Amino acid sequence: MKFGGTSVADEKCIRQVVDILEGHHSAGAELAVVVSAMSGITDQLHAIAEEVVDSRGEPPVDTFIEALRTRHLRVLDQVAGDDADEVRELIDTRLDNLRNILNAVHTLRELTPRSRDYVISFGERLSAIIVSAALRERGIRSVAMDGCEAGMVTSSIHGGSQVLPESATHIRSRIEPLLPDTVPVVMGYMGCTKQGVLTTLGRSGSDYSAAVVGAAINADEIWIWTDVDGVMTADPRIIHDARVLPSVSYLEAMELSYFGAKVLHPRSIEPAMQKDIPVRVKHTFNPNHPGSLVVQGEQRDHRVVKAISYIERVSLITIAGAQMIGRPGVARAIFSSLADRDVNIMMISQGSSEANISLIVDDDHLDRALEALGDVQKAGLIRDVTHDRGVIAAAVVGSGMAGTPGISGRIFTAMGRARINVMMISQGSSEVNVSFVVRREDGPAALRVLHDEFRLSEDCDDDA
Ligand code: ADP
Ligand code: ASP
Ligand code: MG
Repeated sequence: MKFGGTSVADEKCIRQVVDILEGHHSAGAELAVVVSAMSGITDQLHAIAEEVVDSRGEPPVDTFIEALRTRHLRVLDQVAGDDADEVRELIDTRLDNLRNILNAVHTLRELTPRSRDYVISFGERLSAIIVSAALRERGIRSVAMDGCEAGMVTSSIHGGSQVLPESATHIRSRIEPLLPDTVPVVMGYMGCTKQGVLTTLGRSGSDYSAAVVGAAINADEIWIWTDVDGVMTADPRIIHDARVLPSVSYLEAMELSYFGAKVLHPRSIEPAMQKDIPVRVKHTFNPNHPGSLVVQGEQRDHRVVKAISYIERVSLITIAGAQMIGRPGVARAIFSSLADRDVNIMMISQGSSEANISLIVDDDHLDRALEALGDVQKAGLIRDVTHDRGVIAAAVVGSGMAGTPGISGRIFTAMGRARINVMMISQGSSEVNVSFVVRREDGPAALRVLHDEFRLSEDCDDDA
């Protein structure tokens, strides 16, 4: 069971988490728990790291540490009473450590990917020991473990590491022996390289941690406890009448999360899918709601389109040049140059004349992508490279779309009626998704139009 940031945000939330765990524990379930940092803490850690490295004067390190201490100790006092002296000391030690690192970053004026990872992992380091103490307070045996202690061995790409397959054996050997009588509380979002260097798994990475742990121990189910009732037809913050989907397929969940549905981390499905373990998404503060079940298979209901999601902070790059026509090797030159600079390409489309290729990349990768394409341009293989930062990529997702004619027609007719200009279109060969790009300011309207077109707010008893 994984609990996200809003589920462990304060003492009231942690009590609720412990109620849930106690209920399952006393019903005889063996539980492994993964927790995120308290909500807002990872953002604050990112911000302070950037602030101390840039700051010319004295950076507010002490004030920051004091605020973290106050928030965490207050919660600890409320959920673990007087027996938590050791945990109180541990929080102090960890915060002293964090203060020293931040001061060192400031003195050196250097924030490496490695030191940033170390700093931003502190939220989970603090929350997990509190949740574990709260369980012990209820008489449940529990230990807190960091990602490395739990056996999470990762690649060395800081800020977005991948968990390596060999982790499974380590995780199993460290967690399984505990399960019969102890609830391990694993710090999500982090692991370490084979050399023992701490890494993080990318924002929202605790879902990924949970899936890796669940798969390693062959869990019956992986439960993601969050602040919504399940996977919904769209982000409820934008589409207020979005509906909970009782079941979605692994593939649908992957497409949705890849295209920005924050409720699940894009990498959290694969470990579950490999072992065919169902993933259940549930609301910590509405635990009687059945939530959504993510499982193998098509999960067709009568609807062909099930949900819509979108990613902001992406850029559209258009590569043009007659040199490309009929000339083999140009695409290879483009993509290997981009790969050499670690540019992650999120969408690709190529015009049939072969004269144009459009790409979507994360905003953070845009500068590197333009440098890479500059090289290809110098080699005379392409003519023009233009880019546009102000776009979003959206995806319409549903297994039933495969082989159903007319879906793209409906999507783009609806967009046309709403006078929304579509800048790029791409459809995966799995036909589980049709994705497209519009201007950023058109994003919410595009979502609304499609949610209405496919009648996603309505209960599904006819074929919309
Ligand atoms: P946690 O802190 O529990 O990991 P997140 O904030 O990472 O929670 O993810 C939950 C949020 O994901 C929801 O509050 C919701 O706004 C957002 N979200 C985006 N798309 C969807 C979707 N399709 N279904 C459900 N939630 C979504
Ligand atoms: N605390 C991390 C984040 O905010 C990881 C997570 O919450 O899943 O991104
Ligand atoms: Mg999350």
